[in-house]
Amino acid sequence: MRLFGHVVAEGRRRIADLGARLGGDSAISAAYASALVEAYRPLMRALLLPILFFHIGISLFAVARAEGQHQLVLVALSAATAAVLIWAWRVWSLPEATSLWRHERNAFFVNLAILANTAVHLADSFDPTKLVYFAVMPVLFAATAVSVRGAAIAATLSLGVLLTFLPGLPPTTAQRFVFVTILLSVLGLWTAHLLRRALHRQVEARLMIHAFAAEAQQQAVTDPLTQIPNRRAMFDLMDRYVQAGTPFWLGIVDLDGFKAVNDVYGHAVGDALLREAAARITSAAGKSAVVGRIGGDEFALVVNGDADEVEVRDLGDDLIMALSAPFEIDFARLSVSATIGFAARTPADGSAGEIYERADFALYGAKAENRGQSAVFDAVNDKVMADTKSLERALREADLEAELNLVYQPQFSLREDRIIGFEALARWVSPTLGPVPPDKFIRAAERSGLISRVTTVLFARGLKAMALWPDEIHLSFNLSGHDVCDAGVLHSLVDLVRAQGVAPQRIEFEITETAVMSDIEHSAANLRQLQAQGFGIALDDFGSGYSSFEYIDRLPLSKIKIDKSFVRKVSESRTSGAIVAAVLGLCRTLELRCVLEGVETRAELARLEPLQPDLIQGYLFGKPMALIETLAALAHQEEPLAQRG
Ligand code: C2E
Ligand code: CA
Ligand code: CA
Repeated sequence: MRLFGHVVAEGRRRIADLGARLGGDSAISAAYASALVEAYRPLMRALLLPILFFHIGISLFAVARAEGQHQLVLVALSAATAAVLIWAWRVWSLPEATSLWRHERNAFFVNLAILANTAVHLADSFDPTKLVYFAVMPVLFAATAVSVRGAAIAATLSLGVLLTFLPGLPPTTAQRFVFVTILLSVLGLWTAHLLRRALHRQVEARLMIHAFAAEAQQQAVTDPLTQIPNRRAMFDLMDRYVQAGTPFWLGIVDLDGFKAVNDVYGHAVGDALLREAAARITSAAGKSAVVGRIGGDEFALVVNGDADEVEVRDLGDDLIMALSAPFEIDFARLSVSATIGFAARTPADGSAGEIYERADFALYGAKAENRGQSAVFDAVNDKVMADTKSLERALREADLEAELNLVYQPQFSLREDRIIGFEALARWVSPTLGPVPPDKFIRAAERSGLISRVTTVLFARGLKAMALWPDEIHLSFNLSGHDVCDAGVLHSLVDLVRAQGVAPQRIEFEITETAVMSDIEHSAANLRQLQAQGFGIALDDFGSGYSSFEYIDRLPLSKIKIDKSFVRKVSESRTSGAIVAAVLGLCRTLELRCVLEGVETRAELARLEPLQPDLIQGYLFGKPMALIETLAALAHQEEPLAQRG
């Protein structure tokens, strides 16, 4: 019972909330009244129908019996009563909600017509037994009246009219009529009261259900953090536009640097920043677009209508400007920037999902090349995207075991004057597309969820190669960002190593800064596990990213590979030489091994040699080669020096 009371109280609160949201108290009472009208309407009509037939019946009967001058009056009266009843029937049948007040008035007129009809018939031919009608009428009035007030007025009138007929009757008969009329009136009013109370409860329950449903509906399409439309709402909106053939633009806004804020200042500050960003985007977009949050730090705007590219770019600039002002949160001044990708939908092309894909493609292009700006999906993007898709399809359909292969590039120790290991580099020759560069198909594999399969197939191939090499030769194997985050894949790699009986110390996994960036904590934990089992970890492409030094500190590394761009620039830029020297020094201090990547010429080597590099990997010492060639190269270096070519 208490639970029920609680639910009702909660329901009332929500109805009130709903009312407030709909526009204040008048709106809630309007919703309530119209629900009441809806409840009354069928009841009224059900009651009215028999009354109508009854009156038509007695009117016809009266007309048939009456003679002379009365006939006209009676016919007119019957016609008027029937008209009132028919009019009331019509009003109660109208599809649009009539006001409660109109219902009450209708019921009153109906009751008045019935009363008048009875009174005139009685006046026309008085029969004391017919006075019982006045006792019965209050019950009828109570049933048809919308409010108890209306029923009470009708009952009083009925009693009043009855009184005008009493003077000619014996006092005891008159008293009895009055008594019975009052009794039935009270009974009628009480029944009316009970009926109305039941009706009100029913209406309240219905409104409560509606309020709950409306709230649930609202929650399903609102982002709880920012209170703006969520991903689902935005896609629903686009779906509607697509179905209606309405042209629109979709913009995807990505906050650059949000992750760092979240990492450094914590989630509470991150949340506050997102709320503020949502508010800024919404107000900068104004009426020109609907703004929603579709991912962690991703917002979407749907620009309705036939805006042209210039207008959309202007809007993008406004948004980026609005987001670039510092955010003052918890006494901190935080800066983020934003990149936006736009795609247009003309009436003839694409589902919401496809438009999203295009805007996303434009966004990622912009993030790679023009961070902090907006980009519009164009014909060039379209071509690249189509290529990407056919690449992904070919990869999905590929027989990975048969089509994937590894080549091996030597890592050369200058001090020992020998190859100490190989980096395994993936190759894919697709039967439909021909040879596909590894960075391309690795990315495609990541996108289409095939990367763990690709990694496992390649790694198994690498382990087989190792079985043919001498024990002191190691293998460097590249892991993608997805692999590093996926403890399951890493476990299966470790299992393969065990099954092959290869010593983990002979294997080193190469990772890049971008690969671990998305979830550094998780990646570092996984890598520490690998390290604990004896595997080496190399940080690849060192210096090509944003904050390489930070990663030296946070990851369990055994080796650093200096990016080939430094080696390339060493001849023309003194800074590059200085950086290489500094990193080599750092590696010595931290007891990390170090590889100089991309040494192609003797001239480059001549410049680098004085820095005493540890290991060299580059075309000068060997291009990526087939397994059989590695065996030849290894055999060659085992020969006595004098015999080498
Ligand atoms: P990476 O790991 O930095 O690999 C080195 C790339 O530099 C290789 O390109 C190699 O052929 C090239 N290279 C080596 N020496 C020289 C040189 O002296 N000059 C020049 N210009 N280039 C040199 P490749 O084989 O095309 O691989 C490209 C990238 O693809 C790799 O970069 C790596 O990020 C990725 N990748 C290759 N194989 C795999 C793999 O098995 N798994 C994963 N996840 N990624 C792979
Ligand atoms: Ca590598
Ligand atoms: Ca590299």
